[in-house]
Amino acid sequence: MNYMKSIVFSLALSLFLTGCIGPGGNRSNDLIVIDAGHGGHDSGALCAGKQEKDLVLQITHKLKKELKSEGYRVYMTRGDDRFLKLGERTRIADKMDAKVFISIHANAIANKSRFELAEGIETYFLQKTRDARSQRIAARENASVLQGTDALSKNVIIDSVLNGPKIVESNKLAIDVQKNIMQKVKRGYPDAKSGGARPAPFYVLVGASRPSILVEVGYITNTKERQRLFTSDYQERIAEGIVEGVNHYLDTRRKETGI
Ligand SMILES: [Zn+2]
Repeated sequence: MNYMKSIVFSLALSLFLTGCIGPGGNRSNDLIVIDAGHGGHDSGALCAGKQEKDLVLQITHKLKKELKSEGYRVYMTRGDDRFLKLGERTRIADKMDAKVFISIHANAIANKSRFELAEGIETYFLQKTRDARSQRIAARENASVLQGTDALSKNVIIDSVLNGPKIVESNKLAIDVQKNIMQKVKRGYPDAKSGGARPAPFYVLVGASRPSILVEVGYITNTKERQRLFTSDYQERIAEGIVEGVNHYLDTRRKETGI
């Protein structure tokens, strides 16, 4: 009898241990959708012969590799130079039931006299804001995806998701990702600047019914940042930082929700 009890106990224990999901566990169930901004006829920001659409695609490919090596399933909204219409990017994330949606962009400033002053990495989550800088950056990124959309539709689209339950989660994810990118980048480039985790009304994030963020990896109008951004080392640090941020966010959420 004691022998049987010990077998049952060992079986129960091994089931408990293998069924246990701790930090880093069971990531193969988690799908991450990653989105390289712009593409095709929409080059995004341009400076000194460099295009935002090319930079963000390079970083997104590195991000895919890093996420896969951590065990995640990954889907890229675009893997080459093509344009996606408004809504297509987040619709993919919703249709595929992604855990997290991450859009990658690069920043730019219009005023030439400020080219060498504006720099830094920022992570955004969707929220209306009175902050003029966030509004300016969102307006630039929104311009291409909003072509052909009338003003009333724009307001209906954005109002339908603002104040939704995912804003708090997106804010948490943005904080984790921004913090980890800066840690990785600053180890190699101590003067790298952080613009923080910030709210902004980006249309690319509208409709995403899951934690969704947009990373502005730096200003391509700033000479120092542009040169760094187009190196493999800098891109790798950004990709690794995003992955560590996602790991931290999902591990914390698992502990909170118990799933
Ligand atoms: Zn962009």
